[in-house]
Amino acid sequence: MEFKEEKEFLIRELKNSGTFDLKVLEAIYNIPREVFVPEFLKDRAYENVPLPIGEGQTISQPFMVAYMTQHLEIFEGCKVLEIGTGSGYQAGILSYLGCEVYTIERIDYLSKKAKENLKKASEVIGKDLLKNIKFFIGDGSLGFKNYAPYDRIIITAAAIYNKTQTFIEQLSDNNGILIVPEGKNLEIQILRKYIKNNGKIEVIDLDYCRFVPLIGENGWQED
Ligand code: SAM
Repeated sequence: MEFKEEKEFLIRELKNSGTFDLKVLEAIYNIPREVFVPEFLKDRAYENVPLPIGEGQTISQPFMVAYMTQHLEIFEGCKVLEIGTGSGYQAGILSYLGCEVYTIERIDYLSKKAKENLKKASEVIGKDLLKNIKFFIGDGSLGFKNYAPYDRIIITAAAIYNKTQTFIEQLSDNNGILIVPEGKNLEIQILRKYIKNNGKIEVIDLDYCRFVPLIGENGWQED
């Protein structure tokens, strides 16, 4: 296996920095992150840092991917909306774990590249990751009503603080979970978890984080 030592080092680092289900760690170990980063960064694919993927966007830090996945509390067959396809890596992790993934990206090139990356990753691991993923191009700051409600929603770009009503409306009312970075500005962001049950919403502040902005009608304005 390529990058075996680097993968093992990363998993040790994750185990030292949080509590993760074995399944989540297995997904991080098995999904080849090197396929999702530009060629010149392949050697750095297992560093626990975000890396550029073009168009001014990033693939998130492996710790953050593991942390968000863990907090999504996914189950086999659960229906997940991901806002911000980026490289396709997070969608691949969710597909590997048996979710039915709907992923939306505003940049056409990234969505197409993500599909290619996932095809390559599927070949590397001998498991079809694409079969559980549907790709969409558009403004995910409005969520994606077409297939709502979702059991889970994960937003991988920073939303505006407390401007999450649209997403909550598209969540299942039976233990629906939303994980979203929110910022009053782009420097200070907090990762929040919303749990929706019988019309009641519980909000948990998880940790500080740093994401690229969610740009769109219900998000930040482009410069
Ligand atoms: N989940 C990605 C991965 O695994 O590589 C990382 C996502 S990257 C940190 C954030 C992504 O959100 C970028 O690709 C960006 O173009 C996208 N984005 C920003 N605003 C968006 C919007 N309104 N709708 C959809 N995607 C958006």
